[in-house]
Amino acid sequence: MGMFEQNKEGIKQDILTLSTMVDKAAPGYTRRPFTKWYAESREWLKKEMENCGLDVHIDAASNLVGRREGTNPDLSPIMIGSHTDSVVGGGRFDGVIGVVAGIEIVRQLNEQNIQLAHPLLVVDFTAEEASEFGISTIGSRGMVGDLTEEDLGRKDADGCTLREALEFAGGRPEKIEREALKAGDLSLYLELHIEQGPVLEQNEKVLGVVTGIVGIQRYEVIVEGQANHAGTTPMNMRYDALTAAAALVLKLEEISNLSYAEQVVGTVGRLSVKPNGPNIVPGRVVFEFEIRSLDKDVFVQMMERFEKEMERIQQQRGVSITTNQLSHSDPVVVEEEVLTGIEKSCQPLGATMFLPSGAGHDGMQIAEVAPVGMIFVPSQDGKSHCPEEWTDYGQVAKGIQALGNTLLHFDQELSSKRRTGRRKEPSGLS
Ligand SMILES: [Zn+2]
Repeated sequence: MGMFEQNKEGIKQDILTLSTMVDKAAPGYTRRPFTKWYAESREWLKKEMENCGLDVHIDAASNLVGRREGTNPDLSPIMIGSHTDSVVGGGRFDGVIGVVAGIEIVRQLNEQNIQLAHPLLVVDFTAEEASEFGISTIGSRGMVGDLTEEDLGRKDADGCTLREALEFAGGRPEKIEREALKAGDLSLYLELHIEQGPVLEQNEKVLGVVTGIVGIQRYEVIVEGQANHAGTTPMNMRYDALTAAAALVLKLEEISNLSYAEQVVGTVGRLSVKPNGPNIVPGRVVFEFEIRSLDKDVFVQMMERFEKEMERIQQQRGVSITTNQLSHSDPVVVEEEVLTGIEKSCQPLGATMFLPSGAGHDGMQIAEVAPVGMIFVPSQDGKSHCPEEWTDYGQVAKGIQALGNTLLHFDQELSSKRRTGRRKEPSGLS
């Protein structure tokens, strides 16, 4: 069994090449989906995939997919992927390294004459980042049939529908449902990504085994008090919506700092005050908060506490408080044997640790139909989604080596077990 090499120079070239295919009028390294820069980078990726012998096509949801045949026709493919779209003012590594990793792994398999038992798919998912259509992970949603008619009808600021955008990128939206992957159609999904946080660096680790992708719950809180004159209304006769909201914001921080079965983060990132005048007691405040965790039960525990505080503040301050849930996504927990296999493949290469992903990824969608696993490499100073985003090329190369070894491990493990059609059930791990 061959081992993967660290091809630092080759990887550097790939990343640098892609970093030139960006909107130069926009800040940082900006490559928004459905733009000419995106089309240009896709064209380059397609050629690279073909150069290493992959059979390339664009699927119904406009994902770029390269396929390498396996030796056992009974096995469902193993898929490696990520995305090459960026946020406005983004960096050179987020997403890009995961797609480049797939191609580099195929190059090395070819050089070493390694035939996998499983077919291998290398995917560049369309539009992973939050898009102009108000949703993210568009391509991976489409791949598992999770783009509704309503989603396809969403419009960007220019009035272009998502359906039209997917067609522009080579997709066939009318076939998304029919071509959607189902449980058993994939044996495993693997992704290499930058951490986008400071944890690996601060712990002096070079590789991270991702234990899961956190679920996110978002709420809107409406605090109704009474607007009044800031000079003539005595302090004991006010129903100040902002001071009540401020008390709640601090309570959310306190609740998020308590200890739970899994780590949580809670944030109020948006707040609006009405009438918002310097000489008016605020009459109405609307704020939005989100909580993230790997454990669904933690959400329930947090919200019970938050609602108690809401009740208390409402009575104490004579305001009325209501909440609406804006959105929720379930956490994805990586299966125990996937974690073990990835860890075994990472350990010999350098200091490795387990950590959850606080950011969303395409794997969240693919987890609907297959087990998923992710490897993180360190982000310098924990920075991402900015031009300073940086991971040393040597560390990227090491991540690719770890991903390649993980692929070899599971190619063997899964073909000997023939667990190919196993439906992924919510495991007892959560
Ligand atoms: Zn990403």
